[in-house]
Amino acid sequence: MKPFAYTDSIALAELPDHLDENCRPIAGGTDLLPRLKAGISRADGLIDLRGAGLSDAITKRDDTVSIGALASLSTIRECLLLQRLYPMLPQAAALAATTQIRNRATLGGNLLQRPRCWYYRDPDLTCWLKQSRDGPPPTAGEPCPARSGRNSRHAIFGESVCRAVHPSDLAPCLVAAGAQVRLRGRTGERVVPIDRFFREPGDDHRRETVIHATEIVEAVDLPIPAGNTRSVYVKSMERSAWAFALVSCAMQIEFDHDAETIRSARVVLGGVATIPWRLPGLEAALRGMHPGDEPAWDAIQEAVSSAQPLAENRYKVRLSARLLGQALRTLGARTGASRGGEM
Ligand SMILES: Cc1cc2nc3c(=O)[nH]c(=O)nc-3n(C[C@H](O)[C@H](O)[C@H](O)COP(=O)(O)OP(=O)(O)OC[C@H]3O[C@@H](n4cnc5c(N)ncnc54)[C@H](O)[C@@H]3O)c2cc1C
Ligand code: SF4
Repeated sequence: MKPFAYTDSIALAELPDHLDENCRPIAGGTDLLPRLKAGISRADGLIDLRGAGLSDAITKRDDTVSIGALASLSTIRECLLLQRLYPMLPQAAALAATTQIRNRATLGGNLLQRPRCWYYRDPDLTCWLKQSRDGPPPTAGEPCPARSGRNSRHAIFGESVCRAVHPSDLAPCLVAAGAQVRLRGRTGERVVPIDRFFREPGDDHRRETVIHATEIVEAVDLPIPAGNTRSVYVKSMERSAWAFALVSCAMQIEFDHDAETIRSARVVLGGVATIPWRLPGLEAALRGMHPGDEPAWDAIQEAVSSAQPLAENRYKVRLSARLLGQALRTLGARTGASRGGEM
């Protein structure tokens, strides 16, 4: 492992002045340290966010719930306020990783963890995504070896050359909740809607978010949902613990006063694209329906029909549809609106 300088004594206000491509922030270290050890990522210096006074608190004020970037996945899992207002979020935290990792891993790090693509994680290989400051220098050859290689875990949606999937379980839930990400940089604070915080990697931008090297995530703010709102997170894994999502689904639905008709929905898939993948067509189609209606199933089939699977991951299309159906049925059952449709 290449040596690096380490400090935990830089105050929050000065932190952005010290950060750049060579000097990176570290929180729980559960993603960054393995990357540094393997030589996949490089840093000459690390600044520990735990010494900077960054918040790990979950607080409610007026119409917003704020989660500090240092909140651990265990804290998110156990928070009664989140369980009441956004049950999908604690459910996602509970299904992520292991107890030990959840105790250490933070919200900020979870959103900014890098892909688990086996080509990306292999220190002896390079690829299109690693051809950045974050990895070894470019080599000639196929830009994305996953496209014609082993791609059973890879993306089925998206335009990027990269077909790695976003590994976070929390991210789809935060997109479904309509969260905003509060960033702190050298010129102060900026707030980015989470839909725009995640961005598919492109030639000018070989990473999955819009955060700059001199910025940190300070907190994530969630609007308090209207009454009659329910949410759920479902995740398909290769084994029942300690596994990233093959496919996952976060769904938040606001029901009408009859508690049966869908007034609005936010529907996001995980494990299917380089970023959490929202399904606006399905969201629009669900408006006015009941969760158990036959047309809801047709709308789900329509939503996944635009997927472009690779040779080994066609199963993800069907799995996406099944998880969407399961999420809808679960929320319908909780409001008494399920009519036992065949989903
Ligand atoms: C065995 C194993 C299984 C796992 N399973 C799952 C799973 O099922 N689901 C899942 O969602 N995750 C899973 N993970 C990933 C884990 O959740 C992440 O590693 C963790 O959330 C990262 O948080 P951290 O605080 O340790 O981040 P770090 O490793 O400290 O940082 C990760 C990245 O984010 C940057 N960073 C961290 N905090 C900030 C901030 N506030 N502002 C700016 N940049 C920041 C760092 O510079 C670094 O690039 C697993 C990890 C392991 C090792
Ligand atoms: S999917 Fe992305 S990370 Fe994986 S090999 Fe292709 S370009 Fe690299």
